[in-house]
Amino acid sequence: MRTPRFILLLPAALILVAAAGCSSGSAARSGPEFDGEAALALVKIQTDFGPRVPGTNAHLQALEWMEEFLEPLAEVVQRQPFTAYNPFSGESVTSTNLIASFYTQKRRRIMLCAHWDSRPVADQEVPPVDEPIDGAVDGAAGTAIMLQMARILAEHEPAYGVDIVLFDAEDIGLAGAYPEFENWFQGSRYFASVAKQTGYKPWFAILVDLVGDKEATYYREQISLDYAPDVVKKVWDLAAALGVSQFKQGGYPSSLYDDHWILNRDAGIPSIDITEQISDYPYWHTREDTFDKVSAESLAAVGKVLVGVLYPPN
Ligand SMILES: [Zn+2]
Repeated sequence: MRTPRFILLLPAALILVAAAGCSSGSAARSGPEFDGEAALALVKIQTDFGPRVPGTNAHLQALEWMEEFLEPLAEVVQRQPFTAYNPFSGESVTSTNLIASFYTQKRRRIMLCAHWDSRPVADQEVPPVDEPIDGAVDGAAGTAIMLQMARILAEHEPAYGVDIVLFDAEDIGLAGAYPEFENWFQGSRYFASVAKQTGYKPWFAILVDLVGDKEATYYREQISLDYAPDVVKKVWDLAAALGVSQFKQGGYPSSLYDDHWILNRDAGIPSIDITEQISDYPYWHTREDTFDKVSAESLAAVGKVLVGVLYPPN
């Protein structure tokens, strides 16, 4: 009953802060804002380095930039170096996964991941072209979303601990390597082997790959459904609740062999892939997978759902 009098005594600025706190509290279901324009700028920085093919100067520059970006934001940033094999050149190249850990005291952890390398050849062009690609949608966009998530995590404590893992040497295999996909997913294969040895076992992992295309839609992916159906349901239900229309419930799920397959199969980490279907992105593995194909709105659609996972409604 004394409250009204107490409020009257507060400075006006403080009342405004309290009111803002209340309104953001009632809208807490979507958590902090994901800034799509900021994420788009992070795509541009990567594509401006040039194709991030392991063994090139652009690749090294991008690694150093990502590390410098993450160091002030995360509690721990680790390089996980390994030797990758490039079947196009026949050479072994130094490659590096980058791991940024947040809120390390929290035992229940969610892993968020993307690959940061870009493909050394444009082998989906007709005829195939022996030149590297920018990988704006295929690499840079997913990485940009991860880096923008890092900014959010540094400022807002999530419900769970989070490990962001940026895989190297995902996109370096020869086409048609079914069923083992030799030389693809080399970074996640190495990460999974270490995770198995050390017993690293997050609650689940969400991979984002082939995201951020202006026209992108995300259907449930079959390998994710096979290994981690509960996580798929959680994420797509959340997207529906948040009104993120790019996530589609229907359709016939198709399989995309990607880093999440390795995490599931080799490390037993329940993992899903948020990915556009390859058939819906005509610039996949061509020199036209360029920055102009990406939009802030599309990046923010994925980011908003990831924020929703990490900052669930009370
Ligand atoms: Zn690719």
